[in-house]
Amino acid sequence: MTDVTLQSIYEARRAIQGVACRTPLVPAHRLGGDELDLRLKLETAQPTGAFKLRGAANAAARLSAEALRRGVVCASTGNHGRAVAYAARRLGGRAVVCMSSLVPQNKLDAIRALGAETRIVGESQDEAQVEVERLVAEDGLSEIPPFDHPDVIAGQGTIGLELLEDFPDLDTVVVPLSGGGLIAGIARAVKSASPAIRVIGVSTQRGAAMHASLEAGRPVEVREEPTLADSLGGGIGLANRWTFAMVRDLVDDTVLVSEAEIAAAMRRLFLEESWVAEGGGAVGVALLQDRHRARLGRRVAMVISGRGIDMAMFRRVVDGEVPFGTAIGASYD
Ligand SMILES: *Cc1c(COP(=O)(O)O)cnc(C)c1O
Repeated sequence: MTDVTLQSIYEARRAIQGVACRTPLVPAHRLGGDELDLRLKLETAQPTGAFKLRGAANAAARLSAEALRRGVVCASTGNHGRAVAYAARRLGGRAVVCMSSLVPQNKLDAIRALGAETRIVGESQDEAQVEVERLVAEDGLSEIPPFDHPDVIAGQGTIGLELLEDFPDLDTVVVPLSGGGLIAGIARAVKSASPAIRVIGVSTQRGAAMHASLEAGRPVEVREEPTLADSLGGGIGLANRWTFAMVRDLVDDTVLVSEAEIAAAMRRLFLEESWVAEGGGAVGVALLQDRHRARLGRRVAMVISGRGIDMAMFRRVVDGEVPFGTAIGASYD
């Protein structure tokens, strides 16, 4: 495997064409107010509803025809699982998604509707991951990991190329941050053009593994709790090979936001700009609050990374609820 370079990101752009979309960058005058030229990068417009399609499509496209026929495999039923299923089908390959028996039926149905095979194993994400490794070792399938892989990072980095073209004088990019594939790819792209462009990562307080790892100077695990930004959960992997070092070396700032701030961000995005996003997709909007404003420049691109939320939950949030706000970890809010 090679490092993630500007060239590998340009190659990814060619590879994902026809599978992932070039997404719109739209001005947000109400959210931005008079001082900010704020524009939203709507990854919610991807056919699977989230940016993860870029990385999955690039990783799948780089496999041989034979490897694609044998199949790609992952253990996610969220945005990554949908991306792997969709990309494999579009490229004429097979996808297997491993999941625990605790996965809700609607998520299972959504993955199957995209044409993927499903394997139900055990009662935890860890057991599903063991099945992934077995399929790789015994049946020769290719794993597409959610973030810690150069092809996946390069795929997400194509967002950075689009930002540079559509907003050439931008000074700040705000990016939702979990495992770090998204922000690492974007940072590699925009910093190659101009190291002065600030890249800021936003994570949930309820499981900020990258933030804690940066503070510790090495990958560490954190306690996880239910959060409205469920797509930002999960660790960075104690054996992290790529994203930890890239985020450490390229990202200027990381910010943690509370459940109440995430809910307010989703509400503002919907009520002021009419855009629907899931919690993890909307976290950047929380930086528009006065106490974070100094971190931003004047020409700000904000990545709205996904819309994988069910409408019943979305309605509750728009109506003013903070679904996970007080039950657990109330001290954070
Ligand atoms: C996966 C995901 C993220 C975080 O991406 P990483 O590459 O893990 O940092 C952010 N938003 C959404 C909607 C996601 O699905």
